[in-house]
Amino acid sequence: PITNTTDLSALLQQMLAQSQPLYSTGKVADYIPALAQVAPQQAAVAVATLDGRLHSAGAAQQSFSLQSISKIFGLVMAMNRLGDELWQRVNMEPSGQPFNSIVQLEWEQGIPRNPMINAGAIVVADVLVSHYSASKSAFLTFLRRLAGEEALYADQQVYLSELEHGNRNAAMAYLMKSFGNIEADVPQVLEHYFHQCAAAISCEQLARSLLFLANRGVQPSTNEQICSRRDAHRINAILSTSGMYDQSGEFAFKVGLPAKSGVGGAIVAIVPQFGVITAWSPPLNNYGNSVVAMQLIQQLADELGLSLF
Ligand code: GLN
Repeated sequence: PITNTTDLSALLQQMLAQSQPLYSTGKVADYIPALAQVAPQQAAVAVATLDGRLHSAGAAQQSFSLQSISKIFGLVMAMNRLGDELWQRVNMEPSGQPFNSIVQLEWEQGIPRNPMINAGAIVVADVLVSHYSASKSAFLTFLRRLAGEEALYADQQVYLSELEHGNRNAAMAYLMKSFGNIEADVPQVLEHYFHQCAAAISCEQLARSLLFLANRGVQPSTNEQICSRRDAHRINAILSTSGMYDQSGEFAFKVGLPAKSGVGGAIVAIVPQFGVITAWSPPLNNYGNSVVAMQLIQQLADELGLSLF
């Protein structure tokens, strides 16, 4: 969709400048105390394309907390390890509930609605803990390989803050364990989950790392098959219906791309056969999605006509 690269860089700059008034309409996540300390008035946008180009504007090399976007990477690892068996333990339906909702878990016998809400990602974390001898470092190794960047780490302060304030996630994990849908010890599963959420990454690194989802499972920089073509399509389908939580319908309506947000303020959007857009800015709306990042991605998709629908 984009031919003139100078125009794209200029467009990103211009969009970023225009989006600044939106800062004040959102609120930085504070239920994880370490995240409440992040300065709110920051923003970045990056576009990585399958042909190896990278365009960005703003603080695109500044690291933030990956948070729920880690659910994509965890899911790829678990799909690769477990195959289709995974779908007996987690469903593929939108939840129509907030990302940290617990109610449906009891109605649905401990089977989470999808892997993009917390309950689903905790089941995925259980699969990783049960199938890797050191799942936390396996996750980081995977992320580093995809980003082409050795120096990626989990932010210790964010990790410990989440562990200390993770009662709601713990409640969901124990409830699922009572239904037999968590195999490992709950504390170990939660440690893995919080550790992957605490990974620190920049917009530019994140955009590059997910290119395989826009390219039928093949990472273009290395030609490595990261997941099967079928699984890449399936992950994009789940991102389209559930990646933005209870705002996924609105996002499909307004943007029309598979996407995932995290309470660290980042959003990624996959543009099949073209590339990946990432945007970041800490203040969130009531759904837990970044207000500025939503606006940036929406405007770019609009401007370039990217909607898949
Ligand atoms: N670590 C966060 C949590 O478990 C992730 C939530 C998110 O980014 N939406 O609540």
